[in-house]
Amino acid sequence: MSTVTLSRRAFGKLAIGAGLSATWIGHATAQYTLGTGLDIVQINRPGEGAVNSYILSGTDSIAILDGQRTGIEARQVVALARGIGKPVDAIVLSHEHPDHFGGLQILADAFPQAPILASETTARLVVQNGAATLAFMKTVFGNAMPDTVPRPTRILADGEKLRLAGLDWVVDQRGPCEALGMTMLHQSERNILFAADLVGNRVTPWLVDKSTGAWLAELETARTRYAGIITCLPGHGAAAPARALMDQEMSYLTFFRDLVRSEMAGASPLSAEAKRRIRAATLLRFPGYPAVAPAPDLIELNADAVATELRG
Ligand SMILES: [Zn+2]
Repeated sequence: MSTVTLSRRAFGKLAIGAGLSATWIGHATAQYTLGTGLDIVQINRPGEGAVNSYILSGTDSIAILDGQRTGIEARQVVALARGIGKPVDAIVLSHEHPDHFGGLQILADAFPQAPILASETTARLVVQNGAATLAFMKTVFGNAMPDTVPRPTRILADGEKLRLAGLDWVVDQRGPCEALGMTMLHQSERNILFAADLVGNRVTPWLVDKSTGAWLAELETARTRYAGIITCLPGHGAAAPARALMDQEMSYLTFFRDLVRSEMAGASPLSAEAKRRIRAATLLRFPGYPAVAPAPDLIELNADAVATELRG
């Protein structure tokens, strides 16, 4: 795989902690080199709706984290994984949202020997809703969507130890937060946390699951537990130290909830005019944050969802 050093511009401002070096190895990938025996390759299609998959590349094997939104990006993951040329220990699905499982079938077909790992919650929801979700996504993305979603083949338990890419990772099951279930992976010797969508980095988050209160509580716990994590791998945006990403996510959620709460005092449900004010204030406070979903009205969807949540 040739290494091309590119501008950081495509990914926005990249926050890197001490001891973490980053090399871009293609338009849509970043490689974090974390000492002998482990590389982390980040794969996404930049811009609105960008979502990360990661390849953990160890000395003798690799693991793939998350399955992309469509088959197009999933095939990029397959190509990179094949290029590394090592057996795949496992494919891990972090949560039940389709931007992370839409392309999963492509990975499962490419690496049929690799188990697909997910929490009980994630597995249940993907089996329950996967087909209907893909059918809807086909109306948006057409043939870029695979026809099926594979059923996870192994259920992960909270606190379980996994051997991935030659290192021990501990499963931390969180949620409800951004989604109902959120599987994180912690590698203590290298100070790495795969945080999935517990955090994003300078992105407009998905608040439509109406759990921002529970999400804030999870972040409060995680920011203490993972205060020393240098390389936190988010579901959307660039890697950065965990504390920075978690504080950033808490600021966004708190700001947005306060904004919606203040508009709710005037009208319930929110008027179109109230949502216009919410959009303007949010973009002023968090300018240039791409949306985690390719929905031009994500801020308005978030506002309605948070209003419903706050109304209880
Ligand atoms: Zn996501």
